[in-house]
Formats: sequence, structure tokens, C-alpha cells
Amino acid sequence: MLFIDSLNQLLFPTRCFGCAALGLSICSSCRRDWHPGYYTRHISQLSVHSAVPYSSTASRIILASKEDGLEGADNLIISAIVHVLSKADFDDHNIRLVPIPSSPSARRRRGRNFILDIAGSVGQRSGLPLSDSLELTRRVRDQSGLDATARSYNMQGAFALKKGTYPRGDLVLIDDVVTTGATLHEAGRALRSAGFNVIAAITACHAQPLR
Ligand SMILES: [Zn+2]
Repeated sequence: MLFIDSLNQLLFPTRCFGCAALGLSICSSCRRDWHPGYYTRHISQLSVHSAVPYSSTASRIILASKEDGLEGADNLIISAIVHVLSKADFDDHNIRLVPIPSSPSARRRRGRNFILDIAGSVGQRSGLPLSDSLELTRRVRDQSGLDATARSYNMQGAFALKKGTYPRGDLVLIDDVVTTGATLHEAGRALRSAGFNVIAAITACHAQPLR
């Protein structure tokens, strides 16, 4: 194994996800941009807790995880979410983690269900159960170029409770980034309208909406 590890290092040396410098999966300078803290925003009845402000470093880490499936980048995101969970102090609650569903086309392109994978690892590390209880009801547009109004319109009624699921307890939504909160708002609406209790959302990053 040692030999294979060193061969791997030779062929595929570890590079920083932020700036591609050789060595660590995140170098000390990019660590300054990706340093998990605890930020809270309130988006229409929902407290959204996040670990790091969005930056070009954060954007590269998220892409490396989401689109390239790189384990080191996954780990940075998982640790950031676990960190926020520990700060959020949900001790008196009966928490269940609910991942935000991704579209079938994104799942095919990535070869996996990104947020479900991330939330699953967060659950394993934090000992909290996972409930994959939301599904998309229709196609939604990629939101990266959309402003707040367009995002809200794009997400309206887009999620529903997945058939056969019954997510009891205090639900905490899990996603990679919050921008306007349109996606989280819609996820909260779908679960609450089915009679379930959503208490918060946790994301690795928080970004400023387009104006
Ligand atoms: Zn770097």
C-alpha cells in the first residue's frame, strides 16, 4: 500500500484546491479564505447557519467536490458542515438531516448524488440520522446567473415530499451554498406543508446574491 501511495503521489501529486499549489489539499494561504466559522442568516422563517463566506477559493473547492468528485474537497465541505452543526447547539432537538435534492441530469453528469453523499458523511461523523425525503417535481434552471426574483420564481413549488418517506423529528436542511435562500425556502415549504418540522438549514458557504 505504501508503494501505491507514493506512486499515486508521484503521478497525481496533491494540489491545493484553492490555488493548485503542490503539497496540501488546502495551502496555508487559501486556508485564510476557507476557515470554518459560524454565520447565521434568517431567510423567511428559516435560520440558515454557514461556515465560510463565498470566495474564489471557496468556489474552486466546491467545484472540485461537486463536479470532479475529489475526496479532499468533499472532506473540506463535510468538516465545514460538521463544524457548524457543533456550533448550532441542537442538543435538545431530535435532529434529522435532510439533503437538498439535485436534478437527475446533475446526478448523471456527476456520477453521484452530491449533497446526499455529503450529508451522509456529515451524518456518520456527527452521529445524526439522515432522511432523504425531498424530491424535485419538475425541471429547474441552473441558478448561477439568476437574481433573487428569478431564483424565487425558478424554485417555486419545485420540491415535494418523496413518496414513502416520513421525516419525523426536527429537520435540518443541508446544502453546499446559500445565496438568496430560494432553494432552502422552497425545501422548507415543501416539508412544512406536508406537516413536518423544519428548524434550520446548514450550508458550507454563504454567498451574496446578485443585485
Ligand atoms: Zn492554495
